[in-house]
Amino acid sequence: MTAPMQAGPELDAVVSERVFGWVPLRGESAQKHNAKDLPASRAHIECIWVRRGKRMACQECGDMPSWSTDIAAGWPVFQHMMDQRFSVRSRFFQALTDEAKRISDGLEVPSPWILQTLCHDFPAAVCRAALAAVERPGAAHRARGDS
Ligand SMILES: [Zn+2]
Repeated sequence: MTAPMQAGPELDAVVSERVFGWVPLRGESAQKHNAKDLPASRAHIECIWVRRGKRMACQECGDMPSWSTDIAAGWPVFQHMMDQRFSVRSRFFQALTDEAKRISDGLEVPSPWILQTLCHDFPAAVCRAALAAVERPGAAHRARGDS
């Protein structure tokens, strides 16, 4: 089993892409897109994230939400998961339970205590659980070639 992704910008980017469906644009296409809403002198070229053509965040502007480190940003991830169909929500809750178990050194955590167990790790745990829930079952096994 691979180590869980740590909280931080890398996890935030993966959540934006796989959970929220934001698409990163780089180089010229990012500049073209940014030119629409920024003065030419400020048009940024590093990377912008769009969803359905709408600008969501820009790497250079540093406005990517800190999904995994800030509870105010992490909570919308939780809410987003509550809008998913039942099977995805079920996988999400199972993955959150697994996060609590991992933090408790492998001890089963009864559901009333999951929140207090996750506590400060809640935003990162929600992000990892959301990623686990949106992965197609079996996809990780096939990707690792150990089916
Ligand atoms: Zn920018």
